[in-house]
Amino acid sequence: MTDQTVDLLARLVSIDSANSSMGGPGEADLAAEIALFGHSHGLVVATDEVLPDRSNVSLTLPGTKGTQAGRRLLFDLHLDTVPHIGIPNATVPRIDGDRMWGRGTCDTKGALAAALVAVGRLAREVADRDGEVMLLFTVDEEYLKRGVAHAVAGGLTATAAIVGEPTSLRPIVAHKGAVRFRIVTHGRAAHTSKPENGDNAIHQMVEVIDWLRERGEPALSLRDHPRLTPPTFTIGTISGGVGVNIVPDRCVIDIDRRTLPTEDPAAVLAEIDGWLADLMRARPGVKATREDPYISERGLDGPVDGSLVVAVQAAVAKVTGGAVDPTPDGVPYGTDATHLWGLAGIPTVVIGPGDIAQAHTIDEWVDLNDVRQCTEVYYEVMRSFVQGEWS
Ligand SMILES: [Zn+2]
Repeated sequence: MTDQTVDLLARLVSIDSANSSMGGPGEADLAAEIALFGHSHGLVVATDEVLPDRSNVSLTLPGTKGTQAGRRLLFDLHLDTVPHIGIPNATVPRIDGDRMWGRGTCDTKGALAAALVAVGRLAREVADRDGEVMLLFTVDEEYLKRGVAHAVAGGLTATAAIVGEPTSLRPIVAHKGAVRFRIVTHGRAAHTSKPENGDNAIHQMVEVIDWLRERGEPALSLRDHPRLTPPTFTIGTISGGVGVNIVPDRCVIDIDRRTLPTEDPAAVLAEIDGWLADLMRARPGVKATREDPYISERGLDGPVDGSLVVAVQAAVAKVTGGAVDPTPDGVPYGTDATHLWGLAGIPTVVIGPGDIAQAHTIDEWVDLNDVRQCTEVYYEVMRSFVQGEWS
């Protein structure tokens, strides 16, 4: 048990890193603080610009044996938080009993503080290390995940990866992916005194929505996964029309399709296209097009019995003394693991302190015992990795 983690967490929360694509100041100040921590603890510090003034930063504790080149345990932690516009004192950490309040305490600065303290301790206490530990701090996780995407596109590799997100210290080996895209209906404008001269794009869209729901919802509800709920289909926005006295010539919906990791995003889109084509054959008055997806992320579906999972389970059991069920589980939300596993093929477990129910809320908080225990869990996973104890 250490309060070094709690002190560091308070410091990290006091540095506003709300995503600049969502109205915040961005990650630069927090990245600079992380780099300072790395330098003062003798770690190898590297920065990698992803977007103007928005850089990933990594801290690496190198191996010392050199026998297994490329043996690397990666921790992926996002620097950004969601915005806190209108929430007073969101970046002034407040402790009451076993809880700390403030934006980012739970999502995901608790995990950042735990990983930093753990790697600092590993550097001090374990002199012979077979393999390296790299902490990668990414930008833009809360918006488009461009930080991790940039790192993976740049050739990031690892033997195994931990993604630090609030899971109440349960090991998560599966989560959903997401495909987000627009459908547009195309009509013809006319004065509403003579609507018969126009073609109402909103009326068309009503048909599109009914058709897609009638086909999509039953089909999706039948798809299953051992650790996840069925995939879903949500129409999140609709817009169309310019005035009450003009027949609308265009209507747009945004669809958020949450996928099982076994669903290929391309196949998901082909399925939608098939339904739309069926509709337009059945109702020739409907003219609908699908736009290219602006988010297309595969889910996480890592092995449940690989060396990483076994090591994480052992660490959780040892540190929590059985208080946390270490059975690998699944969650419906997405993380950076979508890129690490889905694109780079790195075995990945998501685990961190705090409950996802508190993330993104107006009174975000984290359980400080969770954060302290997470430091011990991360340390134990790092130590067992560099000491060659993994099966
Ligand atoms: Zn997060």
